[in-house]
Amino acid sequence: MAFNVSDIRKDFPILQREVNGKPLVYLDNAATTQKPRQVINSIVDYYSGYNANIHRGVHTLSQEATDAYEAARGIIQQHFNVEKPSEVIFTSGTTHSINLVANGFESILQTGDEIVVSALEHHSNIVPWQMLCERTGAILKVIPMNEEGELVLPEFKNILSARTKLVFVNHISNALGTINPIEEIIAMAHEKGAAVLIDGAQACCHLKPDLQKLDVDFYTTSAHKMCGPTGVGILYGKEAWLQKLPPYQGGGEMISEVTFEKTTYAELPHKFEAGTPNIAGGIAFGAAIDYLNAIGFEQIEKHENELLFYATKELLKIDGLRIYGTAARKTSVISFNLSGIHPYDVGTILDKMGIAVRTGHHCAQPIMDYYKIPGTVRASFAFYNTLEEVNRLVDGVKKAKLMLS
Ligand SMILES: *Cc1c(COP(=O)(O)O)cnc(C)c1O
Repeated sequence: MAFNVSDIRKDFPILQREVNGKPLVYLDNAATTQKPRQVINSIVDYYSGYNANIHRGVHTLSQEATDAYEAARGIIQQHFNVEKPSEVIFTSGTTHSINLVANGFESILQTGDEIVVSALEHHSNIVPWQMLCERTGAILKVIPMNEEGELVLPEFKNILSARTKLVFVNHISNALGTINPIEEIIAMAHEKGAAVLIDGAQACCHLKPDLQKLDVDFYTTSAHKMCGPTGVGILYGKEAWLQKLPPYQGGGEMISEVTFEKTTYAELPHKFEAGTPNIAGGIAFGAAIDYLNAIGFEQIEKHENELLFYATKELLKIDGLRIYGTAARKTSVISFNLSGIHPYDVGTILDKMGIAVRTGHHCAQPIMDYYKIPGTVRASFAFYNTLEEVNRLVDGVKKAKLMLS
């Protein structure tokens, strides 16, 4: 199938709307992506055709819902090349997945053990580990970044030791777009016997990770950043690790047998899936992955690289514009500022022109502190964006500069 961006855009109802009297230019894809009608329809079909609770009913609707939900788990398993479906845990998203692992490591860590995170982390990657360190007496270490927004691997090597129990890095930085060298990071950590959790929230709309090949211990992502709905995501874990970690929440679905003396836990994956899950969300997540695969990740990458290259070139022609994050390997995210102008003011003027960008610290304040700035304007492109939209952004930034300087 040839990649045709105008055909693809027809799948996204929201891209047809206007904002402030102008056709919407949606460039906030790193915060959440838009949803194609194939995904929206899967939710409507579920609620209008076979809504029922799963895994416990003998009646037809419950069986249909269970089948669809488990089929979605299978789609996700295949997509990420996971060995067993039971290694795919449905969660409410990346934040939930990270907290699940952090909670589980409480019973593993001892005083003086070390957890390593990167300087490029989202707040949701920093706070749970700080909390865990407070509870266990473990120590948090940070892999530093350089001016380009890349992690400094020789420093990582120095930080790693026999005390390192867990390494925690995002696959792609949401603030700068840096693609981190996770293959090397995983291999280096494993050499010291440390487990690795990769946050793929920002990566999975741009590329297709092969989790068995990566040999990663844990990997997480959120459906809403890959054209699926909010409130659902996954935690992948190697079976041995998932067996080892205690359950996160107690409730229905996660138990095998309950008496007041003792409860035994259900088999994987249900041990980590307490309560009624986001059934429609899980099914729609499967539909989103099918949709992305029908377009093809090679085509997605090629088109997004073209957008990134062109937008970078055109934006840099504007006097006084600086781009933060110039890694050799980066995805279609451009964080920038105009000299002497607050990012918030630029974002507000762009919105008046129908252009949606994000302004602020992008839940990554340590990165902003590194560059000594309050925040940036961030334009993040998806496969459904066009070169013409890049032109509208560049014109908009030029106008904002005229108005604000
Ligand atoms: C969005 C994001 C998160 C948080 O994801 P939620 O879906 O809000 O839980 C974590 N890490 C990165 C890199 C992100 O981009």
